[in-house]
Amino acid sequence: MTTPTVQFALDRLPVPAHLLDQDAHDPLAHKRQEFMLPGGVIYLDGNSLGALSRRVTERLTRVTTQEWGQALIGSWTAGAAQGQDWMGLPDRVAAKLARLIGAHPDEVAVGDSTSVNTFKALAAALATAHPGRRVILTDQDNFPTDLYVAQGLIGLLGERYELRRVPADDVAAHLNSEVAAVLLTQVDYRTGRCLDLAAVSAAAHAAGALTVWDLAHSAGAFPVELNAAGADFAVGCGYKYLNGGPGAPAFLFAARRHHAAPVALSGWMGHADPFEMARDFQPAPGARRFVTGTPMVLSLSALDAALDVFEDVDLQALRTKSLALTDTFIALLDPVSERLGLTLVTPRDQARRGSQVSYRHPDARAVMAELIAAGIVGDFRTPDILRFGFTPLYHSFADVSRAAQGVQAVLEAYA
Ligand SMILES: *Cc1c(COP(=O)(O)O)cnc(C)c1O
Repeated sequence: MTTPTVQFALDRLPVPAHLLDQDAHDPLAHKRQEFMLPGGVIYLDGNSLGALSRRVTERLTRVTTQEWGQALIGSWTAGAAQGQDWMGLPDRVAAKLARLIGAHPDEVAVGDSTSVNTFKALAAALATAHPGRRVILTDQDNFPTDLYVAQGLIGLLGERYELRRVPADDVAAHLNSEVAAVLLTQVDYRTGRCLDLAAVSAAAHAAGALTVWDLAHSAGAFPVELNAAGADFAVGCGYKYLNGGPGAPAFLFAARRHHAAPVALSGWMGHADPFEMARDFQPAPGARRFVTGTPMVLSLSALDAALDVFEDVDLQALRTKSLALTDTFIALLDPVSERLGLTLVTPRDQARRGSQVSYRHPDARAVMAELIAAGIVGDFRTPDILRFGFTPLYHSFADVSRAAQGVQAVLEAYA
């Protein structure tokens, strides 16, 4: 345990009037009360583990005590007409997710982790890509699991493919007739840099390559328009901005034109009729074929309830607020950042920014430990990144002001 060098009551730090005014006019302000947020803490880590919404607690109680506890195995099919059967849960969650990512419900498969879905999506993309092409083009700083999954799949495919890693901004320049698929994370987990989904997808297509997008830091943070962008495949994470809970099921998107793509992890739950117990795999229609095994009912139920929080949320308003929150944080720290050893690595250009703000600091690891001890919960990422995630559903401008004051106070004491 680190003993904090600075201690203060975060919620009593003064907030400038114009920011209080912004809170008073915030169309999403009422969403905060739907979440359980610990007192005395400003939680800026919803990009790593989203906060718990009250609906999830209620839902998990119902699922365990009634559905599992009382109805037992009958719950797989009970209430199908009212949309309450466990069997239909992956499809119902897929439909809720579809709206957030600009997809049709039958283009989304829910289950497993993001890592596993990356394997499934990349395998489907390679099997669909131009047969003579042997290169998977990726960002050299991509999230480790994306790189590892690609390496594992390449090994399985007898090293026929090459993983070509280039700086994210140079991807377009490396598109050529060798590239089968482009594997990219839209928002960089360290810097918060956001790629132009439509522009990169269009460039990939112009070069004859398919796209596999990782939306771990996009889905639920701002509107994603997969079909408008012409994306081929995508995956995303249920426990970050979607608030589905630790280890929540992830999702896979396959555009309708790819629904005949081979399914590498063909399990019985992706079969057209699982209980026919047929000897050969006959894929279910649409993206459902990518669901491999038995739905994780407890965690899927939590994700299902968490997604209801988005039901009445205008996604443009979500984006507008997210950018205002990150703009405000950057502006509040700008005057002091140089003196405090902070170097902003998140793009100032709104179009190139996700929903986080990151700084380099030479002692980032120790500094973040101090910040967390003082109640400002962000996180450290190697080698020297301080990362602060902003969640427009539950952050106020007062939070941003107090967090910025807290960061300043801790760093002044640290320096
Ligand atoms: C968080 C994250 C993941 C998570 O993968 P898991 O399989 O859930 O561990 C994947 N990709 C990116 C870019 C992430 O940020």
